[in-house]
Amino acid sequence: MQTTALLPDEETMYRAFVSRDATFEGIFVTGVRTTGVFCRPACPARKPLRPNVEFFSRAGDALAAGYRPCRRCRPLDTEDAAPEWLRPLLEAVDKDPAKRWTTEETRAFGVDPARARRWFQSRHGMTFLAFLRARRLGHAFSRIRGGAAVTDSAMEADFDSVSGFCEAMRRATGHSPREARGRHALRVAQVPSPLGPVMVAGDEDAVYLVEFWDRRMLEQQFATLEKRLDAVFFPGEPDPVRRIRDELTAYFAGDLRQFTTPLRYPGSAHQEQVWKALTEVPYGKTRTYGELAQQIGRPSAVRAVARAVGENRLAIVLPCHRIVGADGRLTGYGGGLWRKRFLLAHEGGQEPGRI
Ligand SMILES: [Zn+2]
Repeated sequence: MQTTALLPDEETMYRAFVSRDATFEGIFVTGVRTTGVFCRPACPARKPLRPNVEFFSRAGDALAAGYRPCRRCRPLDTEDAAPEWLRPLLEAVDKDPAKRWTTEETRAFGVDPARARRWFQSRHGMTFLAFLRARRLGHAFSRIRGGAAVTDSAMEADFDSVSGFCEAMRRATGHSPREARGRHALRVAQVPSPLGPVMVAGDEDAVYLVEFWDRRMLEQQFATLEKRLDAVFFPGEPDPVRRIRDELTAYFAGDLRQFTTPLRYPGSAHQEQVWKALTEVPYGKTRTYGELAQQIGRPSAVRAVARAVGENRLAIVLPCHRIVGADGRLTGYGGGLWRKRFLLAHEGGQEPGRI
């Protein structure tokens, strides 16, 4: 439960944080949106800008919002340090935050689950299981932010955590489920693919987002949708999401060349024009950024076109992977060049040797 009402005003807290004022120890912790780390007020690390900071009255709230503890100021170690009986287990959790613990394993550390639950409840306001889950989620987020190798994050993405992901997105944007009423609900599901898990978001009418799980931009893309549509994310699989799942499976099997699931890609007029133009690049063909700029009647806007291509939030489906540099080189791809290479080779549009 959030207890922000008890906090000093944010100006005061930010000033205390920047000046490393230790007298605020125990009053608040600070989540840094850009790094996914939370800190004590007196943390010696470089301080982020004000818009990238949010405040929590206790570590448990920061954990629940998907933050992980800072390695330098160690905000989970406070004066009333963990009791002897719990310390070895906590150290093990610290060493491997992605691990899923069984009751038997925690017992092997000599920890009685009921006792652990009581301690975590009074200390962090959450059960021990919720604590472990929060640590895993924070870890998974840090992997997304850091652009983890796809095989690793595929293994770690533990997808009952789609609900954890949605919850963390809501908290990251400052919305509680209660505040979600009346807003545009988008359902989020994970779809497996040969290129690693793909996050899909949609409603009853259309699909709005198809994005690789480990992509650096993933959170940004969700945040943009959230702002643009006043959207809020819940786990689920409405018809269009199920349909795109089937289409992606068929695409990767080589049985589908044209996606027909309804799509929505709200953006600036320029972005929408570029994204629409992407749909006209046929399967198995490539276009240069310059050709795409010509196609939309703005031949001198190559850079702006390239930027909009990079901001595409419907990976694979709006085929930005078919856009290449002037000399036929692959140039960039948000999901990683290896994926672009795979997709083009899969479609037969590019000799792998030429890349
Ligand atoms: Zn710190």
